[in-house]
This record gives sequence, C-alpha cells and structure tokens, in this order.
Amino acid sequence: MWRLLLDLFGALGVIATIGAISWACFQRIALKELISSVRALGDQRLTRPIQSNVTGPVGELVTLFNKVAPQLEQKMVQLERDRQQLQAVLSGMAEGVIAIDARRRLLFANAEASTLFRLDETGVGRLVAELIRNPQVQDAVEATLTSPGGYQGEVTFIGRESPPRSSTRVLALHGTPLPGSPAPGGVLVFHDVTELRHLERMRQDFVANVSHELKTPLASIKAYTETLLDWGLDDPAVNVRFLKRIEEQAERLNLLIMDLLSLARIEAGQDTFRHEPLQLAGVVHARIEDARPRAEAKGLTFSIELDELDDTVLVIADEEAVRQILDNLLDNAVKYTPENKSVAVRCRLTADAVLLEVADTGIGIPRDDLPRIFERFYRVDKARSRAMGGTGLGLSIVKHLVQSIGGKLTVDSRVGSGTTFGIELPRVARGSTS
Ligand code: ADP
Repeated sequence: MWRLLLDLFGALGVIATIGAISWACFQRIALKELISSVRALGDQRLTRPIQSNVTGPVGELVTLFNKVAPQLEQKMVQLERDRQQLQAVLSGMAEGVIAIDARRRLLFANAEASTLFRLDETGVGRLVAELIRNPQVQDAVEATLTSPGGYQGEVTFIGRESPPRSSTRVLALHGTPLPGSPAPGGVLVFHDVTELRHLERMRQDFVANVSHELKTPLASIKAYTETLLDWGLDDPAVNVRFLKRIEEQAERLNLLIMDLLSLARIEAGQDTFRHEPLQLAGVVHARIEDARPRAEAKGLTFSIELDELDDTVLVIADEEAVRQILDNLLDNAVKYTPENKSVAVRCRLTADAVLLEVADTGIGIPRDDLPRIFERFYRVDKARSRAMGGTGLGLSIVKHLVQSIGGKLTVDSRVGSGTTFGIELPRVARGSTS
C-alpha cells in the first residue's frame, strides 16, 4: 500500500516537473519570437502574428504585440509612401530647395539645388558656407534662422553648374525657419529669375529706346519750325531748305512708326501671314528690281546668281513676309556697301529647302556685335545708321518673319570685306502640289 502511494507521488512529481519544464520552454519560445519580431519591426521589416498559447505576462505581451504590430506596420508603409511622394515633388520642382539645421549644416538638397550648387550626397552634414560660397546666400541663411519672418530677396550667383548654364544667375530666394524658438533649422527655396529679369531689362531698354528714337526727329522738327516762325519764313534761301529737313524728319518718324507697328504685330502674332506654296522666283526678281535704282545711284553692281531658281521652285511662305525680308536685307546691303562695289543675290536648292543669300562687299560687322544685330534698335554704329535713314529695327523684323515661316537665318561677316545673310525657306517637294 505504502509502496503504491509512493509510486503515485513519484509519478505525479515527474508529471509536474515535465509540465513545469514545458511551460518554461513555451514561455522561452514565445519570448524569443517576440524579441525577433520586435527587432524586425525596429528594422522596418514586416512581421507575422506570433502563434502562441502561453499565458501569464508573456502571453499578454504576445497578445499586445499581435495587436499593435499591424497598426505600426500600416503607419510605416504610409510614412514611406508619403516620403516617396515628397521626394518626387521635390525632385520635380523647377526651384532649388535646401534644408538646413540650426548649426547651418545641410540636411537635404533637391535635384535642382544639387545642379545649381553642384552638390552631391557627400554635401549632407557639411556646413552650407563651405558648400555654397556666396556671401549673399550666407546672409540669407542667417536671416532665415534668426528672424521670425525668415528671408525674402534676390541673390546674384556665379553659376557653378555645367554649361550651358554657367553664367551669372539671379535667384529669388525665400527662406523659411522651421517652427520652434530658436528655430531648429530652415528651408531655403531658390527660384531662377535670370530670364525674367533679362526680359524686364529688355522691355525697359525698349521703352527708353523708342522714346529716344521718337524724340530726336521730333526735336529737329520743332527746332526747324520755330526758326521758320521766328524769322525764316520770308527768307526763300532758308524756308525751302528747312521745310525739306522737316519733311525728312517726318519721313523718319513715319518709317520708325511703321517698323514699330510691323514688329509689334508680328510679335503678337496679329499679322495674319498665310504660309502657303509660293513661287519664289517672281518675288526675288521683283525685290531686286525694286532695289536696283538705289544700288545704281551708288554705283553698285548687282550680281545675280539665281540659275537654280526657276518657276517650278515653290516655298511654303507668305509672299508679303518674303517681300519684307528681302527688302530689309537688300536695303542694308546697299546702305552698308561703299560706292562702286557689288552686292550678290544667290540661291541654292536642297531637297527640302531653298537657301537664299544676300552678300555684300561692304563695311562688315565686328564679330562681337554679330550676336546682337537682331536685337531691336541695336546698331553697330548709331550715327551712321541714323544718317542712312535706318531705324535699327530691320533685322529684328527679318528675324521674326523668318521664324514665323519656320525657316533659318544666318549671318557671316568680316569687317572691311562684307556681310552675307542667308535665309533658308522650307521648300515644297517637286510634284507634291500637282
Ligand atoms: P538699321 O536700320 O540700323 O540698318 P537693322 O536692324 O537693319 O537696322 O540692322 C542693325 C545693324 O546691323 C545696323 O545698324 C548695322 O550696324 C548692322 N548691319 C545690318 N546689315 C548690315 C550689312 N549688310 N553690313 C554691315 N552692317 C550691317
């Protein structure tokens, strides 16, 4: 009997010990799984729910983990999506954006800022003053971090970026401090306004130029009229001469206003040109004949090399536009070629274009002036151009007309030897209009 009881207690003891050992084992397994899942979460990796029946504090921890982990993971996915969206927005921005911390160190630069200031990943964590060596940018950084309203202004920056954007740039700069006092950092946004400022300057120059161009002949007209009224009206030697001067100046004003209106209409797209198939030969010959008397009056010879330009050659261009182009180029060739020299008009054909050239043997254009001669009112020699009745608008009109036709305009010149203007007009392929 005692022996039986002893065996029973022994068996119960073994069972209890096994139970205790396996309970401890399950707890341990659950804890291990918990630790590795928390680690995974910490590394921002996705986890699976922990399958365990353990009870007690470890069981509670497992239940809590299984509840909280999916919520955290959802937040992580959302955060990552937001980060990618922000990244896409920032890198797609035309403005350069940099973020800095309170110690003036770079935290972030978007693609445009990286191009503008030649920054790469190694720049992150370095002082902005080392990366962007520009005192105006430094002042802006200080103002952004220290004044509550941040910074707003413009900085001039000698571009460090690769060509073609390697010249001086004007950047509008907007610096905003991050919330907090003192500000824990700031965001600086750079907007390239170089082109805008250039256009504004051109507009201001244009208004000043127009006023000046109008004022000069008007002042002459006023002076001659006053003189006539004061004492010259009855003096036959003076009055006819003065009236002729007044007529000349009035004509100059007329030409100027016509050119200005023409340019304004072309630029605004109001001149309704109809670029359709045009027999070029007739127009070219007519314009040469129109210019011939002025050329002959200067003893200039015209050399006409238009053999290839027969009646079958058609271009896609408005007749009036071609007329204005040729008149301006021929007029300049005659004006800027000294007496007894020559002007040539040539034509070459390619499969899809007609290349017309007006070449003179005149004074030529200095190389530095060449890129600017198509600007409104730009003249190499103002006095000479005015004395010859030039308005300074002819080539600008030519440029816009050639653009409107969809052609190309070239110039080649050598001082003292002459100038050649070339216009390439789109050609109608043979047989395509029949
Ligand atoms: P302008 O009325 O003064 O001739 P344009 O716009 O036609 O104005 O030409 C601009 C400037 O370009 C001229 O003032 C002149 O200095 C220069 N230019 C134009 N064509 C010629 C040419 N064939 N030879 C030399 N200089 C020229």
